[in-house]
Formats: sequence, structure tokens, C-alpha cells
Amino acid sequence: MADNSAVEFKNVSFTYPDAKKSVLHDVSFRIKKGLWTALIGHNGSGKSTISKLINGLLIPDQNEKSEIKVEGIKLTPQNVWNIREKVGIVFQNPDNQFVGATVGDDVAFGLENRGVPRDQMLDRVQRVLSDVGMLDYINAEPANLSGGQKQRIAIAGILAVEPDVIIFDESTSMLDPNGREQILGIIKKLMLEKKLTIISITHDIEEANLADEVLVLNDGQILAQDIPAEVFSKTEMLREIGLDIPFTEKLISKLDQIGIKIPQNVKTKDELKQYLC
Ligand code: ADP
Repeated sequence: MADNSAVEFKNVSFTYPDAKKSVLHDVSFRIKKGLWTALIGHNGSGKSTISKLINGLLIPDQNEKSEIKVEGIKLTPQNVWNIREKVGIVFQNPDNQFVGATVGDDVAFGLENRGVPRDQMLDRVQRVLSDVGMLDYINAEPANLSGGQKQRIAIAGILAVEPDVIIFDESTSMLDPNGREQILGIIKKLMLEKKLTIISITHDIEEANLADEVLVLNDGQILAQDIPAEVFSKTEMLREIGLDIPFTEKLISKLDQIGIKIPQNVKTKDELKQYLC
């Protein structure tokens, strides 16, 4: 049977050096290829630790049952660089992600490191800047851009090296509403048009509600993994671990109580407004 997992964890535990106890305890899950999965959980539940394990920045506790696979390939100390080619991470703070003096140089940086020939480089830089709607800024200085634009450049730098999986680690949390909308729009586009696997780590419930699947982490263990409507219907469980449910879910459930059924593909406030008006 064809394996449709982009990422697979089997019995993974992780303990930081010198820490008294593990932060992940025997965690197993699969992230499906070509979908957008949101990883949610309160602060300190282990979300960023999972993202660093996925691209080999951290190595799990040694245990013979333990296994991490990315795109079907088992992660080992020997092939960690191959795996890193497949997984890009967009971090929280856009200012910490620049190395080039201009936007174009910055996006080209990863390609130079990988020895991509010069004639192909410019083509690729232009293509990925166009993918994130920033081609007009190719000669701009990154420092002069808005937070949302900086994150778009960071995404272009990752797209240039053609990964299979992109992890957005709280990538919208420092942005204003406009910047946030831009990034969420790009995430959706990358998934639909480029068939990339997206993992977004967030404590923004509204953002998680836009994903195809939601994985709930609490104190280093997976509590649930399902489509957003299912996960966010477990209101008791979410409240117990200090998470809210999305505003649209609250409204849809109230409407349901008075006999108004809203289709499952209506998720955002705008979609709801359009459907009702
Ligand atoms: P989240 O991303 O969900 O906020 P993290 O994965 O960053 O959670 O952290 C999980 C736990 O691991 C927290 O208790 C945190 O304090 C601890 N932790 C994170 N990084 C380190 C580190 N470098 N050394 C020791 N403990 C760490």
C-alpha cells in the first residue's frame, strides 16, 4: 500500500540534556502528505520540540521501538542532511531569518550553498518571489519591509530549495492582522497549487480552524488528531487543557441549536457571513 505520510513518529520520547524528565512521552502520529496540519497545545506542551525533531535539529531518546520517518525515509544521524533538504521551517521572528543585503541575495543564499548553477539561480529566485507575491521587491533591503513581507521572503527562501514539507512555527504570531492574512493565504496556496505538506504550529485557534487536520498536544502527549470540526467539538477536553474553541465553531453550534445547519466547508468569519447574507 502506498504510504501517504509526510511525517511519521513511532514511540518517540525526548528529554533535553540535563532535564529531569522527558518533554515528549512515547508519542506516535502521522502527518498526511499534501495536507495542512495544525499542531496546537498550550505553551510548553512540546510543539517546537516536535518541529525540531522532524528536521533532525534534535535527536530522540534512544529506544529500539522509536522511529521518525520523513517522506518515507527513516531519520538517522547519517542522513540528517538529506532530511533537512526535505523540510523547511519558517520561524516566529521574521527579523532573525535574513542573511542577504537584498531580498534577491537573501533568497539566493540557500541555492549558492547548494551549488546551484548561476544561470538557474536567478530563474528560481524570480519564480519563488513571484509565488509569494514579492517579485517587485527583488532589489529591496529586507530591513525596510513589513513583518508580513519579511515572512513572505523567508518562505520564498525555503521554497527555493524545493522542500516537500514546510513547518510554520508560530510564524504569524508577531504579525499584524494584515500580515497574518497574507501568510495564511500563502499557506493555503502552497498546499493547493504546489501540493506541499504544511505543518503549522500555533496557539491561535482561529488559525488552526483553517487547517485540514488538527493535532492536539498536551504535556508531551497527543490527545487528539482529526478534522477541525471534530477536534473543536470536544469542548470539555479543550477547556481542561486551557484551549479555547474557534469563534466560528461557537457560532455554528449556536445556530445548529436553533435549527440552522451550516455546511462543513464554511469555516472562516467571511465564509460564514457570505453564507448567511
Ligand atoms: P511549545 O513549543 O509547545 O511551547 P517547547 O517544545 O518549546 O513547547 O517546550 C517543551 C518543554 O521543553 C517546555 O517545558 C520547555 O521549557 C522545555 N524546553 C524547551 N527547550 C528547552 C531546552 N533547550 N532545554 C531545556 N528545556 C527546554
